[in-house]
Amino acid sequence: MAKPIVQERMLIGGEWIHGKKGIEVYDPGTGELIATVPSATEEDVEFAIQKAKSGAQKSASLPVHERMAILHKAASYIEENQDVYVKTIVLESSKTIREARKEVIRCIETLRLSAEEARRIEGDTIPFSQMPGHENRVGYVYRFPIGIVAAITPFNDPLNLVAHKVGPAIAAGNAVIVKPASLTPLSALRFAEAFLYAGLPKDILSVITGHGSIICEPLVEHDDVRFVSFTGGYETGKEITKKAGVKKTGMELGSNSPTIILKDANVKEAIHSTVSGAFGVAGQNCIGVQRIYVEKSIYQTFLTTFVEETKKLKVGHKNDEKTDIGPMISEKEAKRVEKWIIEAKKQGAIVQCGGRRIGTFVEPTVLTNVPEQATIATQEVFGPVVLIQSINSLEEGIEYSNKSGYGLQAGIFTEKLDTAFQAIHELHFGGVMINDSSDVRIDAMPFGGIKGSGLGREGVKYQIEAMTEQKVVAFKLQRSPFL
Ligand code: NDP
Repeated sequence: MAKPIVQERMLIGGEWIHGKKGIEVYDPGTGELIATVPSATEEDVEFAIQKAKSGAQKSASLPVHERMAILHKAASYIEENQDVYVKTIVLESSKTIREARKEVIRCIETLRLSAEEARRIEGDTIPFSQMPGHENRVGYVYRFPIGIVAAITPFNDPLNLVAHKVGPAIAAGNAVIVKPASLTPLSALRFAEAFLYAGLPKDILSVITGHGSIICEPLVEHDDVRFVSFTGGYETGKEITKKAGVKKTGMELGSNSPTIILKDANVKEAIHSTVSGAFGVAGQNCIGVQRIYVEKSIYQTFLTTFVEETKKLKVGHKNDEKTDIGPMISEKEAKRVEKWIIEAKKQGAIVQCGGRRIGTFVEPTVLTNVPEQATIATQEVFGPVVLIQSINSLEEGIEYSNKSGYGLQAGIFTEKLDTAFQAIHELHFGGVMINDSSDVRIDAMPFGGIKGSGLGREGVKYQIEAMTEQKVVAFKLQRSPFL
């Protein structure tokens, strides 16, 4: 007998609500229908914003110790129910069970960091007397909550990227409306349950499910929404930026990240790190390694071993502990990647291994001889494909790395300090990882890119800065306190 389909509800102002229409959610590994979620309407968005207006007031008036207690309690709830969160991620997304476990642990960390950072929302004192005529003034900067935050998230980290927006929003005393990716909305709904359990006052958090193309415009354009925190693709980010008008936006967009391997590097370490960086989450990782530049004298050895290691990766069922690579998020995306591989081959690229697609599964693929102008070289592939190219020098590696419309993170392997510093200065990215691939992130670090990779920085402390406004306070005294 067929399993009954779970009809999920969305959360608006603390109430679970059905929609008039639904969106079907599928397991990308099996193609099985696993749930439906409401397809929110413009009216639902308006309702969520009205709730968030009172939520923002409640949130701003919560003492910091209460915000901290709620965030800690929500983190502990997720920790105690880890199995549920892991299963949800595995079911709806591309992640294998081992990858999902890591994401849940990071989500708990993100919420605990948010609780800790709530106590450090501080401001500078201002030495007014530096300006003649201002000797009688003293003052400081006070940070206050921005108000309503719209948090629009992608499919590839369906839990922790929600935590990266909701945790700082609550720590800073804001209300937040989450719009998760339609392909993976279930983790965000389970995430909200943790906050209801933790006693977050109603109205502070809503999770509205629905198609971005329909509900994001009324959300993003609304004057009462004061910050749009977006993580997703470049084109969507560009559209949101245009629509947002005069309000703050945070744009965490894509990349086609490079990693440079020089001849003095620890090659074994470099291979281990770049194989994992290229193929984790089936390459659907914003800082995943897409382009590898290897110095000529070690190129052939590197390539041979890299291909050998890639061939050892096990593509398969997400629930199997031995699986290294799961499916891509949809057949449409898998077909796009396959098309880009075929196009590159026609333009002269050599497939060193992989290259085939079955349904949503794409084999881990290593390409060489890829022409500079090929789509797969210039665009974000967001699939399990890596390009390896020989370089004559560090300078050439830096030049190729920078030849991209993106600039999220880059990696370089070298044992030489001077070389590392040259790379740090000359690589145009939001982060440069030495003796690591581009694929390095902890939840406390400032994370974000330049150029087409976005605007602003995530990482709990930095999001709290973005989600607060500065207010200057100045006192005029009868006489200068400095005399
Ligand atoms: P999309 O840009 O397709 O979607 C992201 C979110 O935007 C979804 O919730 C989507 O809703 C919504 N959306 C879609 N259309 C619109 C619209 N017109 N206006 C407003 N919102 C809209 O990205 P993906 O989900 O495919 O995620 C992959 C991308 O995310 C990659 O480029 C990746 O690099 C990037 N990313 C960046 C990270 C970073 O920190 N820099 C981290 C992780 C991913 P719906 O699902 O309903 O269409």
